[in-house]
Amino acid sequence: MTDHFSTIAVHAGEERRKPYGALTTPIVQTSTYTFADTAEVVDFMQHKTANDPAARDEYGRYSNPTQSAAEHKIAALERGQEALLFASGMCAITTTVLALLSSGDHLLMVRDSYRRTRDFALKCLSRWGIEVTLMSAQVVNTGSAAEAWAAAIRPNTRLILAETPTNPYLRVIDLSQMTAVARERGVITLLDSTFATPINLRPLEHGVDLVMHSATKYLAGHNDMLAGAVVGRPELVAPIREMRGILGGVSSPHDAYLLIRGLKTLALRVRRQNENAERIAQFLEEQPAVCRVYYPGLPSHPDHDTARRQMTGFGGVVSFEIGGDTEKTGRFVDLLNLPYIGPTLGGVESIVQQQAMFVSLDPGERQASGITDNLVRFAAGIEDADDLIADLSQALSRL
Ligand SMILES: *Cc1c(COP(=O)(O)O)cnc(C)c1O
Repeated sequence: MTDHFSTIAVHAGEERRKPYGALTTPIVQTSTYTFADTAEVVDFMQHKTANDPAARDEYGRYSNPTQSAAEHKIAALERGQEALLFASGMCAITTTVLALLSSGDHLLMVRDSYRRTRDFALKCLSRWGIEVTLMSAQVVNTGSAAEAWAAAIRPNTRLILAETPTNPYLRVIDLSQMTAVARERGVITLLDSTFATPINLRPLEHGVDLVMHSATKYLAGHNDMLAGAVVGRPELVAPIREMRGILGGVSSPHDAYLLIRGLKTLALRVRRQNENAERIAQFLEEQPAVCRVYYPGLPSHPDHDTARRQMTGFGGVVSFEIGGDTEKTGRFVDLLNLPYIGPTLGGVESIVQQQAMFVSLDPGERQASGITDNLVRFAAGIEDADDLIADLSQALSRL
């Protein structure tokens, strides 16, 4: 169609001619699709048995036209072949991992993964006989990344699960090094690209096999729904589709509609969020009350060079440390007027959080999480950068 994200976001995935001549893709609010007669059932079963993607809809746990349109749009944005939509990002990750791994397999994952992804690996997979090794992003990114990956891969390693940029320190994993080693050893790579979005990173072009998103964040973009997505080649997506049909974590037709609507402005929103975060990061780096700023777009970030090589934008999230203790950091967050306090990111409204406080009220548990008490994560929305900076400035001066 075109290489331009703004056009793909608006037009890809949707039928040009829709029912009733409607401009927008309708919400097909049905659980079941009926058959006129037995001949139609036989015809459907023949397509289905042949794994023909043109097979018609049968039942809501397997597919829905509104959901399919959202999937096609996401596949086009990721420049991938097939996408699957799920009820949440966690549902996308768990269904994918359960489809690909069996007892006796080894999963290699980046330690700085989303907390619930790590919980799933350490608390669930280990119970079911799947070995898990965590690798720190620091190790993966110092000098000889390829050697670090090669050393961690075992004969039974089947999957590498990585995330970039990571949360909350925004480490950037060098994907080409990771996928080169994985491919050589026959290991599948799955990347959680939620923080990057298709606008800032094209993981498939760096050799990643499967890209996953919490569509709850940037893809939907309005803080009003949950969804997840996985994109990849048909032969890898097929077993995940089958597992989704068994586990049942599908997205509702109404949420699929909201996602399509949100995706149309993805390129506009993410470019604004990149700009806002970049300006906020530059501003914060000059403030004496802020002792450290983590943003891959800053030359001071340890992975700045990798980010510049790999990404086409540095993302909408900035993390920074307030010079002071837990209480002072909480006071700073409370002095802000524009951003909401909450645990999400990627929507039109800016969101701020003292991340450690969302981990636990117990100081020991917070320390074990590796997130310092004075760390603030600012997920930029699409407001005017001048207003966001003025707000940060007044909060810092009143501290
Ligand atoms: C939010 C998030 C998830 C989980 O997605 P849900 O839609 O909340 O289930 C996974 N990975 C990352 C990086 C996230 O930010």
